Amino acid sequence: MIKPTLLFGLPAHVRLEQIEITPSAVILSLALATSEAACPLCQHASHRVHSRYTRTLQDLPCVGKALRLLVVVRRFFCTNQGCARKIFAERLPELTSIYARRTTRCQEPLTELGFALGGKAAAERLAQLGLPSSRMSILRMLRHTPEAAMPTPRMLGVDEFALRRGKKYGTILVNLETGLPVDLLPDRHAATLETWLKQHPGVLLISRDRAGEFARGATAGAPEALQTADRFHVLGNLAEVVEKVRGLAPPGAENDSPGDLADKLALSFTPAFAANSGATQTAGAGQACRAL
Ligand SMILES: [Zn+2]
Repeated sequence: MIKPTLLFGLPAHVRLEQIEITPSAVILSLALATSEAACPLCQHASHRVHSRYTRTLQDLPCVGKALRLLVVVRRFFCTNQGCARKIFAERLPELTSIYARRTTRCQEPLTELGFALGGKAAAERLAQLGLPSSRMSILRMLRHTPEAAMPTPRMLGVDEFALRRGKKYGTILVNLETGLPVDLLPDRHAATLETWLKQHPGVLLISRDRAGEFARGATAGAPEALQTADRFHVLGNLAEVVEKVRGLAPPGAENDSPGDLADKLALSFTPAFAANSGATQTAGAGQACRAL
């Protein structure tokens, strides 16, 4: 005969004491079948039970009802004389984490739905699925979710973003191959970008705006990387040049293409364009106009 705990997917050392079924929930009363527990501080095993208490955990729904686990947890004396901990509660690592009010397997769908729908919408959907949770509980879980390891991008986009417009700005780093944000830096200083680049070697190309801080940070942090102006600023500067070229076009040149006009006047505009740009590589005005 299959053990009832296996039917519910519970750890082998958990003993099922009782099942209660109400109109809205299935309630399992559980206890641990082990005779000893290890002190979390010194890892010394102890058999001396101090007291017991019941821990309530929310689990994944079962047959359309909420599933609650009532687990009798024992407190033990630590028998290691040299240990600073005198009493400890046994842990349930295969079931849940310390202080959690849900099983580990129950937290995963909550987190997934929270990321997909946001706190309020996820709470409403989860209540329908038999996993009642508050909006704030879901948001708390999202904040405590560890970040996934992010490989260092080969192509890095660097730009500023406003924490408070006109007052405080940070730096956003984007993987240009995936289009995903990589990191947020608390300011837009050269030293901060330099530190990040030194901690994440392997960047081959840095696309940035023409701010001097980013140029200095990129040069100091990843001197081997190719630096290029980002598309937004290239097109912005290009539009300025085209306006100047058209405004100073010689009589009879109205029908010239932007590239031809730029070539005619490139010598008079290129020094100012280059001085304003600060970019490592800039295209000639005529070439850029044709590219546009
Ligand atoms: Zn101990």
